[in-house]
Amino acid sequence: NQFEELGLDQQVLQAIADMGFETPSEVQEKTIPILLDQETDLVALAQTGTGKTAAFGFPLIQKISSESRKTQALILSPTRELCLQITNELKNYSKYKKSLQVVAVYGGASITDQSKQLQRGAQIIVATPGRMQDMIRRNLADISNIDYCILDEADEMLNMGFYEDIKSILSHTPNTKKTWLFSATMPKEVAKIASKFMKNPVEITV
Ligand code: AMP
Repeated sequence: NQFEELGLDQQVLQAIADMGFETPSEVQEKTIPILLDQETDLVALAQTGTGKTAAFGFPLIQKISSESRKTQALILSPTRELCLQITNELKNYSKYKKSLQVVAVYGGASITDQSKQLQRGAQIIVATPGRMQDMIRRNLADISNIDYCILDEADEMLNMGFYEDIKSILSHTPNTKKTWLFSATMPKEVAKIASKFMKNPVEITV
């Protein structure tokens, strides 16, 4: 199948086959080879329902090292529902990657429970900005060594007033990380995030 031509490894390909995905969607076809081959920032304009979660999720799962327990990636998304949805998808994508832990961090649930999950070692955190900022402030999460930061539905997060939280969260991440921003639209607030916090991003539109 065409997923094999995008450069994905056997464990991810097996998970894709199990989910019954037959052909890559447009955003996946455009994004996956770039994210696998190049260590680069990326801005992708794509609506929900286009398969954007897998567009960043497949390359991310392939790039994360399950040998190290340190947090290697942070995904920020606007709502608890989306957070849980992304977490579930990533768990499906990584079912053949032993000891890869994905933890969801969002408001309206016990911060103690979420903190305990992080303490067990989470290579990937999927978070809403408010709760993430709270966990960092209380020293319950360490994102100082991440390799990848994904801003999902960036336009929605900014509409919901998360600019300051996002800015503060990013200030706790290393300069060496790569940032992948996904947004359905490109209002000036999103362009501002891209120009302030990203380096020469590759741009993709679907
Ligand atoms: P998203 O845009 O990431 O919210 O994905 C929308 C839905 O499409 C999700 O339920 C995915 O599981 C599904 N999906 C994503 N990529 C594919 C694909 N290549 N083939 C079939 N279904 C897919």
